[in-house]
Amino acid sequence: MKYISTRGQAPELTFDEAMLTGLARDGGLYVPAEIPMFTSDEIAAMAGQTYEEVAFRVMKPFVGDSFDDVELRGIIDRAYAGFGHAARAPLVQLNEGHFLLELFHGPTLAFKDFAMQLIGQLFQVALKKRNERVTIVGATSGDTGSAAMEAFKGLDAVDVFILYPHGRVSEVQRRQMSTPQEANVHALAVDGDFDDCQAAVKEMFNDFEFRDGVRLAGVNSINIARVLAQVVYYFSSAVSMGAPHRKISYTVPTGNFGDIFAGFVAKQMGLPIDRLVVATNQNDILHRCLSGQGYHKGDTIPSISPSMDIQVSSNFERALYYAYGQDAGAVAQLMEELKSGGFDVSQGAMEALQEVFDSGRVSEEETLAAIKSTLASSGELLCPHSAVGVKVAEDERVSTTPMITLATAHPAKFPAAVEDASGVHPPLPPRMADLYDRSERVTRIGNDLGALKTHIKGHIAT
Ligand SMILES: *Cc1c(COP(=O)(O)O)cnc(C)c1O
Repeated sequence: MKYISTRGQAPELTFDEAMLTGLARDGGLYVPAEIPMFTSDEIAAMAGQTYEEVAFRVMKPFVGDSFDDVELRGIIDRAYAGFGHAARAPLVQLNEGHFLLELFHGPTLAFKDFAMQLIGQLFQVALKKRNERVTIVGATSGDTGSAAMEAFKGLDAVDVFILYPHGRVSEVQRRQMSTPQEANVHALAVDGDFDDCQAAVKEMFNDFEFRDGVRLAGVNSINIARVLAQVVYYFSSAVSMGAPHRKISYTVPTGNFGDIFAGFVAKQMGLPIDRLVVATNQNDILHRCLSGQGYHKGDTIPSISPSMDIQVSSNFERALYYAYGQDAGAVAQLMEELKSGGFDVSQGAMEALQEVFDSGRVSEEETLAAIKSTLASSGELLCPHSAVGVKVAEDERVSTTPMITLATAHPAKFPAAVEDASGVHPPLPPRMADLYDRSERVTRIGNDLGALKTHIKGHIAT
C-alpha cells in the first residue's frame, strides 16, 4: 500500500514512512493511493469479534508490508490493554433509534486515546526496527497533549515534549500531563496562549538544523495513522447494530475533521453508512461550508466545548481531495486561496460533499440544554462535545435508519460545564480517582523559542 499527498508534489511513501513523516513535504496530507474494499461477507464476519480483532482486520490492508501480522496484533493488544471497558468502545441506547458510542474509556478519557495509544506502539516498533529514535514535540489546548504523553510514556525510542499555555488548561487536563513520572515525557507550561505554543512548534519544524538535530516528529491529527485507527470503531459499532444488512448513520462532534473523515473512509471501504453528520459548536466554518457558503475563516470564539474551537479544520483537505475527484492540483490551488482567508467550493465538489455529509451547529445554550435533557431522558451524563453531537443528531434524524452519535470525552474531563448544565458533579472513574493526589512534574518556561529549543536539546535521551 502506497500513500500519496493531497497536493500531488511529495514522494509516495509506505505506511510506516507516512506515519513517521506526518505532514507531506509539499504541505499536503497523506492519503492511501487506493482505499481497500471489504465484501459484505467480510464485514458480516466481524460480528461478535473482539475490538482488537476488528482493529486487526480493518487496519491490515492499510499497513501493507510495514508490520507483519504478529507485530500488528501485538501493537493492537498493547494499545488497548489500558482501557477501562472490556468492549473498548461500548454502545448505549439513548432513545428509539439513537445510540451513543462511548469513546471515552481510554487512559485520558477522550476518543483521542484510540488513535494515540495505537500510534505510540506503532512508532515504538517501527523505530526499533530502524534502530532510530525521534523527538515528538506538540502543542496542546488540553486533550491531544495528555493523550500523547500517556501513549508514549516509557517507550524508549521516543522523547515527548508537550507545550501547553500556562494557566489555560483545565485542572484534569493539567494533571494528566504533569503526573506521568516516566523520564521520556515532559510537560512544558509556556507563558503564553495556545497560538503561541503552536507557533513555537511550527518554528521548530521550520528550523531544519534543529529539526534534523533532534529528529523531530509530529503526531497531530493530520497523521494518517491516527485517522486510520479511528476507522475501526465505525466498523465495530455498525456491525454490532446489524451491518452489513442494515444501514447506519453517524453524527460526529467535529473540530479538525479527523474523526468524521475516518467515517468517510469506512464508508468507502464498503461499510453501509447512510449519512455522516458534522456537528459543530459556534465555531461553525464546517457547517457554513457544507451549507454551501464556501470555506471562509472567521474568528475563533472560546466555547464550553473547547476541543472543537477551530476555524481551520486541517483534515477537511482530505475530504476536499475526494470531492474534487482526487485532483491534487485543484486542492493545492484551494489551499493557496485559504492563506488569504478562504475559498468557494465548486458546484461538482459541493454535490459530492453533500451526497455524504450533513451538518448542524449548536449554540452554547443548546449545548447546556442537551446535557440536561439527555440526563433526564436516559440517565446518560454527556460532556459538552458529545452534547453538541446529540443535539444535532436529534435535529437531523429523519429516517428509520439508526443514528449513532460519537461521545468524544468523559463528562469528568469538563466538570464545570457539566455541573453548570445538570447540577451533577461528574466524578472521575475509580481507576483515576487518585489523580488529584499524584505528584506533579512540570517545567514552567517563557514564551521564548530559544529557551524552548535549549530545554528540549538538554532533555532528550541519547
Ligand atoms: C479532538 C476532539 C474533538 C474533535 O475531533 P476532530 O477529529 O478534531 O474533529 C471533539 N471532541 C473532543 C472531546 C476532542 O478531544
